[in-house]
Amino acid sequence: MQNDRTLLQVKNLKKYFPIKKGVFRKVHGYVKAVDDVSFSIKKGETLSLVGESGCGKTTIGRLILRAIKATSGEIIFHLSDKEVKINKLHESELKAFRKYMQLIFQDPYSSLNPRMTVLEIIGEPLLVNRVASGKVLEDRVVELMELVGLNSKYLRRYPHAFSGGQRQRIGVARALALNPELVIADEPVSALDVSIQAQILNLLKDIQQKQNLTYFFISHDLSVVEYISDTVAVMYVGQIVEIAKTKNIFNHLKHPYTEALLSAVPRIDPGEKRERYFLSGEVADPANPPDGCYFHPRCRYAESICKTKPVPLTEVVTGHFVRCHLAEELDLKGI
Ligand code: SF4
Repeated sequence: MQNDRTLLQVKNLKKYFPIKKGVFRKVHGYVKAVDDVSFSIKKGETLSLVGESGCGKTTIGRLILRAIKATSGEIIFHLSDKEVKINKLHESELKAFRKYMQLIFQDPYSSLNPRMTVLEIIGEPLLVNRVASGKVLEDRVVELMELVGLNSKYLRRYPHAFSGGQRQRIGVARALALNPELVIADEPVSALDVSIQAQILNLLKDIQQKQNLTYFFISHDLSVVEYISDTVAVMYVGQIVEIAKTKNIFNHLKHPYTEALLSAVPRIDPGEKRERYFLSGEVADPANPPDGCYFHPRCRYAESICKTKPVPLTEVVTGHFVRCHLAEELDLKGI
């Protein structure tokens, strides 16, 4: 179940962290953690943000939740009856608005308070937001446990009694307690065994279909996002370098960095012959990125123009945006 309403719009978002030095803590420069990022997500869809550690993915998630304030740019929520600009909300308005956006954490071991029962953990958002208490709260927690595939007879057990996959199900139930519009899932399966990862991804997809939920999914692993995403955005050093529908990212990719990430995705067909493309060198420093295309020191296709001329994000085919001077010339291999 999807519709055509855009739920979340991110426009020219920037987050620069100042670098302060010396006794007087003078600002000597900025770490450009998020540098002019734009995208939108339709209601009921999943947009995944992929890239290596430190590329700015989690910072974008924190900016959307307004756990930190943006340097500039806009984050707009289009609810069915109103439009809300997250950056403009006062603290009291923000507190009330947070019920529309919830977070699933990466680590199901450290994100659950070991001294709280499952009832208390899942019921906490309902209690804090004064949505339910007593028997009504308990009934809602039972409903949520059943939704995420947990046996409700374990209501009064503590997190240590559950496996990693079951703990992540508790985290999902807690995120869904207030019926959010948007769920931000920050590496929700990367701490789990591969066999359990598929179960959690299936669960998220199943709940999305039942409740028309919208996901903003953050991952370093393209193989994880293939199954769950409608759209994939690939990030490198604070910028989106490619964004398109999932099947186009996997079959008709146009950026060399996406090619490198894809070449590392394991495939189960032993007869399939694929060239593994190892990235050389280090990720560029966001406080001092190279001139021209930020990816040029690691790119096997780099030409002289790449070393000097900055690259804008350009729509190469309808709905497929790429930040590469050679996007229309290169014939990159998908999978
Ligand atoms: Fe590689 Fe040049 Fe494209 Fe950058 S602009 S990704 S260096 S080919």
